[in-house]
Amino acid sequence: MLNPPLFLNLGGSVAICTASLFDFKVCNRYMSKASQSRPSSLTRKHTGKAKKYVFAFGSKTDGNASMRELLGGKGANLAEMASIGLPVPPGFTISTAVCTYYYDHEKRYPTALKKDIVTALKQVETQLGKKFGARQNPLLVSVRSGARDSMPGMMDTILNLGLNDKTVEGLAEASGNPRFAWDCYRRFIQMYGNVVMGVRANSEEEEDPFHELLEKLKKSLTITSDTELTTEHLKELVRQYKALIVRLTRGAFPQDVMQQLWGALGAVLGSWKNERAIIYRQQYGIPSEWGTAVNVQAMVFGNAGDQSATGVAFTRDPANGEKVFYGEYLMNAQGEDVVAGVRTPHDISDMKNSMPKSYRDLINVRNKLERHFRDMQDFEFTIENGRLFILQTRNGKRTGLAAVRIAVEMQREHLISQKIALLKIPAESIDSLLVPVFDPKALKSATIIGYGLPAGPGAATGRIAFTAATAETETRKGNKVVLCRTETSPDDLKGMLHSQGILTSRGGVSSHAALVARQLGKVCVCGAGEINISYEKRTLTAGKVVLREGEYISIDGSTGAIYKGAIESADSEVKRVLERGLKPTSSLTYGLFQTVMKWADKYRSLKIRTNADTPEMARQAVAFGAEGIGLCRTEHMFFDGDRIDYMRQMILAVDEVQRRAALKKLLPFQRKDFIGLFKGMNGRPVTIRLLDPPLHEFLPHDDVVRRQLAEKLGVPFDFVIDRIKSLHEENPMLGCRGCRLGILYPEITEMQTRAIFEAAAQVVKGKKRIQVNPEIMIPLVGFKEELIDQLRIVHRVAREVMKAKKVRINYIVGTMIEVPRAAITADEIAKEADFFSFGTNDLTQTTLGLSRDDMGLFYDEYQRKEIYNQNPFASLDQTGVGKLINLAVEKGRTAKPELKLGICGEHAGDPSSIDFCHRVGLNYVSCSPPRVPVARLAAAQAKLRNS
Ligand code: PEP
Ligand code: MG
Repeated sequence: MLNPPLFLNLGGSVAICTASLFDFKVCNRYMSKASQSRPSSLTRKHTGKAKKYVFAFGSKTDGNASMRELLGGKGANLAEMASIGLPVPPGFTISTAVCTYYYDHEKRYPTALKKDIVTALKQVETQLGKKFGARQNPLLVSVRSGARDSMPGMMDTILNLGLNDKTVEGLAEASGNPRFAWDCYRRFIQMYGNVVMGVRANSEEEEDPFHELLEKLKKSLTITSDTELTTEHLKELVRQYKALIVRLTRGAFPQDVMQQLWGALGAVLGSWKNERAIIYRQQYGIPSEWGTAVNVQAMVFGNAGDQSATGVAFTRDPANGEKVFYGEYLMNAQGEDVVAGVRTPHDISDMKNSMPKSYRDLINVRNKLERHFRDMQDFEFTIENGRLFILQTRNGKRTGLAAVRIAVEMQREHLISQKIALLKIPAESIDSLLVPVFDPKALKSATIIGYGLPAGPGAATGRIAFTAATAETETRKGNKVVLCRTETSPDDLKGMLHSQGILTSRGGVSSHAALVARQLGKVCVCGAGEINISYEKRTLTAGKVVLREGEYISIDGSTGAIYKGAIESADSEVKRVLERGLKPTSSLTYGLFQTVMKWADKYRSLKIRTNADTPEMARQAVAFGAEGIGLCRTEHMFFDGDRIDYMRQMILAVDEVQRRAALKKLLPFQRKDFIGLFKGMNGRPVTIRLLDPPLHEFLPHDDVVRRQLAEKLGVPFDFVIDRIKSLHEENPMLGCRGCRLGILYPEITEMQTRAIFEAAAQVVKGKKRIQVNPEIMIPLVGFKEELIDQLRIVHRVAREVMKAKKVRINYIVGTMIEVPRAAITADEIAKEADFFSFGTNDLTQTTLGLSRDDMGLFYDEYQRKEIYNQNPFASLDQTGVGKLINLAVEKGRTAKPELKLGICGEHAGDPSSIDFCHRVGLNYVSCSPPRVPVARLAAAQAKLRNS
């Protein structure tokens, strides 16, 4: 029998000695500082004061759940669980401050750390009656990373640390199970060799060298399962592993347990900057300055025999949010076996029969965790000889659908308030309620080739890619792929990001593939045992069906079905209710969507508009809740059918007469489009931007089309070529575009204004007498004089049309703020404008001196070096571009307090940018129609977060 660890509650029964009282005070001092604002790692000075770097949990616990910044999520929750009396093996957390120190000081540690670690280890030893490095009854520990926001599987972990040639004998004696002790030892050497000493496969195609030795030994013994290896076999394996390390590193596997601990600490801190962690941080906007904490915790053993097990459980279903106990476990197994997906585990409900007492204990823990943390928990547990231990808990990663369902149902169960429920749903999750499903008609003739576990909802079709690298290259070529792997590892992250969906043949619902897919919002089917994937032959076999790499496959992450070939997809239930009259009561998803949107509208103060250029887009946006159009890019109306020819005729015109003739032909098209938009928006405001892009964007690049154009217009081919040449610009984005077009060719502004007012007049005077509120927007203004020039034309034409049509239209005229000069002189411009709309695409472009179309060459490197935390065209650069916006808001509103302010760049659909827009006091955000629901939720969250 192993010596069972001792658990003591902090609840006052343990006397606090002077030393720990001191620690406690230091900890509080540090905490209050940390909770204000942590100084940047680059500017932090050393004051010489002793800082607390190590925080214990167990019978004496220093931290709590609110200390995520310092202890990381895992460390903070371990402390919290220990405090509420859950059976947590004792240990300590090395704070994130050590990680930032480590990177700021050329990978050195704070001087005080060594002593603190020794003290903390002693405390663990005392609690358990074990000793680190002692032959008799040795203490073994796990060393695990733990950032403020969980980054599952991205960083390194080491288990069974403290084993060496001596302590392995001690463990054998203490457990009375030599096989178990040697199994732990060979696992430890493998993990340590890989993570700390770099003995690992160097490419996706290479086998892990430790695994190779293991397989070779099994083959020579003609056995298939690891569990058939005897103590003697494991001893032999340990010998071979150690020799392998010497051969590949020229260094020996360390026997000194303190050396092991420092090696592990360095490796875990090092993994904060590994490639996959960087990619993950980019994806989720986690700043690299946060650093990771490191948790050192006494080992408990799920591989101690047939009354032992290890597993992962979720307090609710993370795939669809249903309130059922969900999870899986492996008997006689250790730590990473479950998440690594090496063996397909048992469903947690099987434990009712195999280990009924442990199952009851687990149910109690499930209830306690949910009541305490008030969120769905994902927890790891180990049962050692019938005794349950909880190794970690965190808010479980979940699909978008599950996030919504869990929040709504927890509110109904009175576990959380409406406001908290709203804040708990990542705004992006709403998107997954709108994801396409396979077209029911197409499914009737589709061939199912197998089933796996439904781990990430939605429908995905694509070409088979067997490696992450293939997935990436194929996607870059414009192909859609489904990444098919026996199991995924964190190194596949990049490939997963590029795939439509992920299919694995091994691993359960908490395998790496499932976990990451859920978080990325990717369609995922995992653990499809009937599917056989051969990397060597590049085939996927299901019964008699053999599919090769590059052939099409389809997966349904809601049902787990796998289909041969490509399948058409169809709209989600929510869309079908909103747009095609499906009965609302027949859809659970629609009910959830409606509830969340209703709550969001109750709390938000930002208005949500949409960027739409067609009545169809406007209709979709209104169905999703848009309250107006914030940007109609009129140039998009010139591409269809004959219009492009008239547009080209206008551009090629050599004088005003010719230009006016072409514009006259365009006028009816514009008018008709505006009528459609005004009717579709039914009285809601419609912001129409006058022509913006460089004219040559409309001209053909291909000689064949140029020749056809010459024929259509009845002009010589050479004339077309010469005109195109004369319009050429070296930097068209900074050339003749925006208001410069209307200033150069006032007849364009005239025609567009006329079309707007004639359309408005027709709609207002029409049978339904629909109200119209046009807002005319002048693009790319940098000087107030530019705006004044265009305003004169707009007001003149407006007056003329209103007079002729005998109607009064309520209209306003404003400008985009999309060049720095406009922001800087916003007070002058505001005097002339009724509104500003921040064109953050151009404002980012012009502020960063960075073309939105030309960042391909260096962007990857910038990401790798974490120069850009996020793509500045996707998420607003709040410290740079944001300052200009702030300035423009202040200057603008000082000059004109009633100035209406909005944003219509792509950032308007990005939740963190929406939060910024709320904070600076904009009136509305305007995003693309499908983003409207996300924006509604993000706007409510911004209000709740900031009030
Ligand atoms: C902008 O610049 O943010 C904008 C909305 O205009 P466009 O993307 O059309 O240049
Ligand atoms: Mg622009």
